[in-house]
Amino acid sequence: MTILDGKKTSQDIKLEIAKAVKELKAQNNKTPHLAAVLVGTDGASMTYVGAKVKACELVGFNSTLIDLPEETSEEELLKQIELLNTNDDIDGFIVQLPLPKHIDEQKVLMAVNPDKDVDGFHPENVGRMALDLPTFLPATPFGIMELLERYNVETSGKNVVVIGRSHIVGRPMSILMSQKRKAGDATVTVAHSRTKNLSELTQSADIIVAALGIPEFLTGDMVKDGVTIIDVGITRVDDATKKRGFRLAGDVHFESVSKKSAFITPVPGGVGPMTIAMLLKNTLLACSRK
Ligand code: NAD
Repeated sequence: MTILDGKKTSQDIKLEIAKAVKELKAQNNKTPHLAAVLVGTDGASMTYVGAKVKACELVGFNSTLIDLPEETSEEELLKQIELLNTNDDIDGFIVQLPLPKHIDEQKVLMAVNPDKDVDGFHPENVGRMALDLPTFLPATPFGIMELLERYNVETSGKNVVVIGRSHIVGRPMSILMSQKRKAGDATVTVAHSRTKNLSELTQSADIIVAALGIPEFLTGDMVKDGVTIIDVGITRVDDATKKRGFRLAGDVHFESVSKKSAFITPVPGGVGPMTIAMLLKNTLLACSRK
């Protein structure tokens, strides 16, 4: 069994990005600049945004955190987005999800200038991804593709089951892996909350991408020997033995599934760090494109 080490791989990618930043600075006197908009005080969102800003510093990017209160209106947020859209100094920006309930998430994502949409959530970029045109790939699926590629996991002609059909993980994963591309050319099945007999599907899968958000859902009896497992789930589970009162759990029961796996991502240290690295990669691309 080989661990698909997202921590190590993301560090390699960050080093590559830091080198590219130095070259960009030397050649064009440009420094990539990422902005992140955070609305409210959701604990997990604050942690994610903090990690993204810190990663920017590490690779030599400029970063700006726009921290707005929970009661920010949709109109105020849209105004803030317009400021970022028109600010020439900002190469790319993200709006951390989820947004408070009174704000229409889709409306906000549609307001982001597609050229600065480094999360790849704007419909124009989603369309470009589906058509296999140059675009910003959404960071989590992009990170998974990169991990599969760097570890030379064979995907061509393989049976892949993606569990989850969300716009940010499951759906784009299923599109990318079925495309004619590196880490693609697979036969993909998308499973979701209405799927019947999921075990039958997973038991015949060569690769499983678990992105449903239910801790330790996928167990050893649901997979075949030699399977490759990508565990996207990150859920905070109460744990009194931990200083912060919780631990992070994936969607995969690591102990039983890893015994049957050829390759597997751990949680933490798998897909999570890759997501941040690919956000940086998209920002570098946005800056170089200008
Ligand atoms: P989501 O809630 O938007 O979607 C969950 C999907 O799972 C839905 O499509 C639903 O149909 C499906 N589902 C629910 N119950 C199911 C069941 N019993 N059987 C089969 N399918 C079922 O979630 P999301 O935003 O895609 O995130 C999924 C998980 O991945 C969460 O734990 C989230 O925190 C994590 N996540 C991690 C990263 C990362 O960087 N590692 C990034 C994004 C999301």
